[in-house]
Amino acid sequence: MSLETPEGGAHHQDGLGEPDALDRLWTPHRMAYIRGESKPADDSVGECPFCRIPTLDDEAGLIVSRGELAYAVLNLYPYNSGHLLVCPYRHVADYTDLTDDEVVEVAALTRTAMRTIRAVSGAQGFNLGMNQGPIAGAGIAAHLHQHVVPRWSGDANFMPVIGRTKPLPQLLAETRRLLAEAWPV
Ligand SMILES: [Zn+2]
Repeated sequence: MSLETPEGGAHHQDGLGEPDALDRLWTPHRMAYIRGESKPADDSVGECPFCRIPTLDDEAGLIVSRGELAYAVLNLYPYNSGHLLVCPYRHVADYTDLTDDEVVEVAALTRTAMRTIRAVSGAQGFNLGMNQGPIAGAGIAAHLHQHVVPRWSGDANFMPVIGRTKPLPQLLAETRRLLAEAWPV
C-alpha cells in the first residue's frame, strides 16, 4: 500500500463534507491535516463545495464515480472508512426538487456504492440518508447529498464518546483509489 505522502511531511487533503466536533485520528499512518471546507457563507452556487468539487480531478476532489446527473464522493469528515456522499450536480436543496432522472441516478449510485463498499471492505451494514434542512442536521443544506455510511460490528466504540475522536484505518486518498478501482463502469 503506497501513500503519496510528502517525505517527512503531513498529508494534505482537499475535499468536501460537513465539519463536526470530532477530531479524526488517522491510523495507522501519520496524522493527516485536512484543508477542509469551512461552512459556506451563504446558500449560493459560488459558495457551495458540492458544486466546486466536480470541477476538480477525481484525486483532488476524492470523487469515486461520476454519473451523468450525479456523482459519488468521499466525505472529508467520515464517520467510518468509505463514508460516501451521493450528490446531484445541480444545486438543489430539497429531494422534491430533483427531476425523475436525478432521483433514479442518485438511487442507482447509492446502490452501486453499497455493492462496491461491500466488495472492497466487507461492510456488514449501512446507514443511508439525507438530512433535509438545517433543522434536520444538514451542515450544508443548500445542496442535496445522500450519506452512505458503511457499518461494522463494534465500529461505534467508546472513542467518539470519550475522546471526541474517531480512529480511521485508512487515509482518504487510499480509500478513494480502492473504491474507484472496484466501481463497475
Ligand atoms: Zn451546490
